[in-house]
Formats: sequence, C-alpha cells, structure tokens
Amino acid sequence: MDAVPILLHACCGPCSIEPVKLLREEGFEPVICWSNPNIQPVAEHDHRLRTLESWARDVAHVEVVVAGDDRDAWERLVAPHGFDRETRCRACYALRLSEACRVARERGIDHVSTTLAVSPYQLFDACGRVLGGLCRANGLVPVWRDFRPFYPEATRVSRELGMYRQNYCGCRFSAAEAAVERHAARDACKAAKRELA
Ligand code: SF4
Repeated sequence: MDAVPILLHACCGPCSIEPVKLLREEGFEPVICWSNPNIQPVAEHDHRLRTLESWARDVAHVEVVVAGDDRDAWERLVAPHGFDRETRCRACYALRLSEACRVARERGIDHVSTTLAVSPYQLFDACGRVLGGLCRANGLVPVWRDFRPFYPEATRVSRELGMYRQNYCGCRFSAAEAAVERHAARDACKAAKRELA
C-alpha cells in the first residue's frame, strides 16, 4: 500500500526525529513544513533551519518546504501577549500552524501534524486544540499524537548526531523565562548543598 502524504510542521531538527520515524511506521510519508517566525534572533532562526535541513537531507531523506515566516504578523498577533504564556503560545501555534495548513492545501495534502507534540515544554492540549480547529476550518485531517514519551530518545539521537540543540523555545519571552528557570534551579541546588554542609 502506498504511504499517505502528511504535512508535518517542524519547529526544529531534534524535535523532528521521532515524529518522522513514528509517522512512517504508521504508514504516512511526511513532507516537512518550516514556518517559525517566532524564533529570535534571526541568526538563531537560521541556525535551527540549517540544522533541520541538513538532517532532513543527509539522514531522514525527507523533503523540507520553507514556508512563510511572517515576523511582522508574529509581532502584531503574538508579542502583545508578553509574559501571559498560555495566550501567547496559543496565538503563536495558530500563526505557524495556519501557514502549515495553507501549504497542505496548496500541495493537495490532506493530513497535517506538528513536531510541537514532542516537547514536554509545549502546552500540549492547547496546541492540539489549535491544530484541530485549523484543520477543521480548512477541510484537513489533524494527526495529533502524543509524541512526548519519545522526547528522551530524540534528545539521545540528536546528541549522537551532533545536532544543534537550543535551550529555549524560540521567542524573546521564552528566552527570558528559560533563563529565570535556570537561575532558580541553580539557586535551589546551591541551597540544598548548603544544607548538607
Ligand atoms: S514560548 Fe514558544 S510557542 Fe510560546 S510564544 Fe514563545 S516561541 Fe511561541
């Protein structure tokens, strides 16, 4: 039986490893769609895209479509939500996944999924609802899977392949939030050591 084409929105190379493998095991053949105007600064955006493209070409043998990256739309529709993470991320998912749905329709691909379902740091339920709503509105079929149990394997394989791995989601707000979390973890670690001394 021929594989079923699926448009897989990808946030980065490491997060694409397991979804491509698992979707192929299910009988899909993914075409990766890059649409991530959320990633700041531009040098970081380009680095993640290059990492994804080299892995897709040399290792996974999967096509990558570089779709729209409307950074002005991100500033207009997402940035005003600032540190209200839930609202901000929902708007961010909607912007990126609506571009993926546009590409799917343009290419005549009926099924759509996203690698955002790998990372335990994403708002899983919110993202699934956004994908479902957009697919319904566009006459497409959402393929929403819980890839999170495969995150440790994605981490292991991407390290083994020497892929670039970022330490924040993408936007400037997430970079600040991740830095605060790292500081808090370091402080907690120091406090625990002091107590033991
Ligand atoms: S944390 Fe990630 S998903 Fe949320 S707004 Fe920032 S880049 Fe988008």
